[in-house]
Amino acid sequence: MKTAAKFTPDVLVCGGGCAGLVAAVAAARNNARTLLVERAPFAGGIITTVGLPFFDGVADKRTGRIVVRGIALELLVKMGRAKPDQTHIRPHNPTIDSTERFKLLADQLLTDHGQMLQVLYHSSVCAVERRGERIRAVLVANKDGLVRIEPRVVIDCTGDADVAYWAEVPCRQQPELMPMTLHFRIGNVRRHPRLNQLARQALQRAHAQGKLPMFYGPGLIFCFARDEAYVHAVRVPGNATDAADLTRAEMQGRADAWTMFQQWKKEVPGFEDSYFITSGPYIGIRETRRVVGRYTITAEDIRRGRRFADAVVTGCWYLDRHPNTTTVGTANDPDNQGFQPDPYDIPYRTLVASQVENLLVAGRCHSATAEAASSTRVSVTAMGMGQAAGTAAALAVRSKTTVAELDGQQVRQVLESQGAGPFTDE
Ligand SMILES: Cc1cc2nc3c(=O)[nH]c(=O)nc-3n(C[C@H](O)[C@H](O)[C@H](O)COP(=O)(O)OP(=O)(O)OC[C@H]3O[C@@H](n4cnc5c(N)ncnc54)[C@H](O)[C@@H]3O)c2cc1C
Repeated sequence: MKTAAKFTPDVLVCGGGCAGLVAAVAAARNNARTLLVERAPFAGGIITTVGLPFFDGVADKRTGRIVVRGIALELLVKMGRAKPDQTHIRPHNPTIDSTERFKLLADQLLTDHGQMLQVLYHSSVCAVERRGERIRAVLVANKDGLVRIEPRVVIDCTGDADVAYWAEVPCRQQPELMPMTLHFRIGNVRRHPRLNQLARQALQRAHAQGKLPMFYGPGLIFCFARDEAYVHAVRVPGNATDAADLTRAEMQGRADAWTMFQQWKKEVPGFEDSYFITSGPYIGIRETRRVVGRYTITAEDIRRGRRFADAVVTGCWYLDRHPNTTTVGTANDPDNQGFQPDPYDIPYRTLVASQVENLLVAGRCHSATAEAASSTRVSVTAMGMGQAAGTAAALAVRSKTTVAELDGQQVRQVLESQGAGPFTDE
């Protein structure tokens, strides 16, 4: 098969979501020639591909103390939602008031680094060539054709561990994955105190009538405009690493969102004159594969607050597994909340793939058990991992070593010297 252009960056970041956007910037700022490839026409991952406005994991839920700083906090500052020297913030506050503005901010951040950081949107990683313990090349499909990239270090931030899996690095996948959710927005909604309750009852009726296979909440959140409901309610079980099943899930999610809208418009006061603004653009994927790394963080580590000398990020979100059943609690319902840990350490070794010496994995597919990942997967924790991975990749290139040999304590020291944590202790 003929391949098109060839790139030879120091660091290749695959996936430009929460982890990948930050990883690419961190690698470039640490003087590595970096290439970011992203399948969507913009960066931002869950924030822009799904439309999520939350920056969870930024602060301890109980005290509001900020536990991830660095580039994640810089993004919040640039969105006008925090000050650079701020120490506390209201956790789970809707923090992104415009996904369009966030796309622009991501573009600006990525293009700020001149030749050091090149970006290819509309580019999907589709194959990996491994020789012995090294990834030799990553193949990307885009409008140039099949593009061959030969990096020194690869950072897999695809959320699905695509690179690791195609490099035949061992991965884990739960027999029952958390459900997918399509987010959507409804305009011209009149708010009143019984809106949520009536919306919930309407969904229960639709479910009982066989019109809606599954739902949760609904969470009707008015964070973008006073009369605009941003809806968390679709729940579709499925396997997003299976192309046919992912297609089915997108179709089901879209149908369910429309059913919900019609049911509310017909039955719930406040929705009479509403209209469907948009969904997606992609269904949100909570869980697929996770890599088996040099260490696997467990729920027990999180519950007990186990400390690691090579800690590079601080996690703080609760153990948050969504079931594949219809539930009527909302995101703010205490019944829905799992164990709330104190801020905890995430070690560097959970980002280092086993068996391959030049592969790091950051974000929701890092090395964690399913229960632990239900906490480590949130957006800002993923950004923190991205910053650690980008920094480590650049360090490895500069010191002519591999990311597998790199001492995690050294990565931690560099992050600390750059004001990027970890911040597990007060
Ligand atoms: C429905 C839903 C609701 C959530 N609610 C919250 C919440 O309220 N608060 C919170 O903090 N977190 C929430 N999360 C969790 C969290 O935001 C994500 O897990 C987080 O985005 C993880 O970051 P990531 O970088 O690993 O993945 P993502 O942000 O998903 O980024 C992965 C990126 O890789 C790209 N990509 C994938 N495959 C390829 C490929 N082969 N080639 C090129 N690019 C590729 C994708 O397009 C995407 O941009 C939610 C998640 C979902 C699905």
